[in-house]
Amino acid sequence: MSVVATLKALYPAWLESATNALAQGESTKRSLRQQLERFFELLVKAVETDDPAWLDSVVYLWVWSQTVSDLSSAKTTIVGVLQVLVDVTLRVAREHLTDAEALDMISALTPYWLHVLEYAANQEMRAQLDHATSELERVQRELERLDKSKSDFISVAAHELKTPLTLIEGYTAMLRDVLSTTDAALQMQVEPLLQGIARGSERTREIVDDLIDVSLLDNNMLKLAFQPLWLGQILRSLADELQPALRERRLSLKIHRFPGHDRLIFGDVVRLRQVFRNLLTNAIKYTPDGGRITIDGRLLPGFVEVRVSDTGIGIAPEDQQLIFDKFGRLGDPQTHSSGKIRFKGGGPGLGLAIAKGIVEAHGGSIWVESPGYDEEKCPGSTFHVLLPLREDEPDAEKESLFAKLAAYIKKGEQRS
Ligand code: ADP
Repeated sequence: MSVVATLKALYPAWLESATNALAQGESTKRSLRQQLERFFELLVKAVETDDPAWLDSVVYLWVWSQTVSDLSSAKTTIVGVLQVLVDVTLRVAREHLTDAEALDMISALTPYWLHVLEYAANQEMRAQLDHATSELERVQRELERLDKSKSDFISVAAHELKTPLTLIEGYTAMLRDVLSTTDAALQMQVEPLLQGIARGSERTREIVDDLIDVSLLDNNMLKLAFQPLWLGQILRSLADELQPALRERRLSLKIHRFPGHDRLIFGDVVRLRQVFRNLLTNAIKYTPDGGRITIDGRLLPGFVEVRVSDTGIGIAPEDQQLIFDKFGRLGDPQTHSSGKIRFKGGGPGLGLAIAKGIVEAHGGSIWVESPGYDEEKCPGSTFHVLLPLREDEPDAEKESLFAKLAAYIKKGEQRS
């Protein structure tokens, strides 16, 4: 008898045995039987034409529609189901054929089984990969949604806080006016309280303004007012502004006359002051009393680089990217004091995110270098700010070129 004729003769026993091995319950057996009938039909066709690819279509359907793995009580993967079918075929052949016939049939079928198992394994791997990819995409979408709602929340909260804050500031000023016209003793008593309220509302306003800046940056709505400026002048005026804090913390600030400090470039003066103010107040906050802050820089082709270094607690390598994320402050929020210039008096963790947004909006980059975090040894940190040497207001074409170059220089510098 030919292999095809033997196969056909074994069909009823094979179908019965395979259905019983794979399914329980009458209705599942009935549905599975239909699938197995189709499989057997194609197996015969494959042997007849000497082409195992006949089986691909049914296996493909099994893998991608999962009907068979759902029906099967024995195995959950199609490779598993096919292994059961191989076992069933061996068993049925042994029970119904002579040893020689069984051996003939098994060796004739082996290439078909190998082909179909390999095909099923490939397809299942692809299906798993597809599943994993779509799962990843789902998580990504979810993260984007969360980020969007966080940024919406920031924007709403900041605007909501602004109104009562304006009221507090207004009433404080009015109280001061009223008091100045009444008796001096009362004024003496109340003045410190008013100062306290004024300090509190000033700090709150700074936080609210930072929140608004973050939401502007998040929504790509930060508008820069480009005008000619000298970086040296900005840095020197900031040094004057920060003198009281530096004195209080006994810190020295040295600004070197680096190449480029007196070059006239185009940028947003107010926003660049904000960048360097954030870097300098951080240097003050994260450097113990008596430490040193140094500003230096250099000219690079098309750019000026400013470096703000301190002799502070430093930043661990794994945190050196994280700190530029919004709310990217390090350490336990409970241990953060809220003093603006106190040692380790961390704020809400927005300063560097805003600095990064502003520098990048200028077509520059910002990054930090530090040997690591150590409150005892104080290895220090150096923040680098790279800004394009613009000789006029930006135009769109130059913008993307500056952005690409800045990213390139930053990468090269971080590697060296
Ligand atoms: P914060 O309001 O917490 O100061 P920033 O965005 O300005 O927020 O800084 C984020 C975090 O980066 C800080 O909480 C601090 O842990 C770390 N950091 C920033 N500047 C320095 C510095 N000069 N030295 C050490 N750590 C710093």
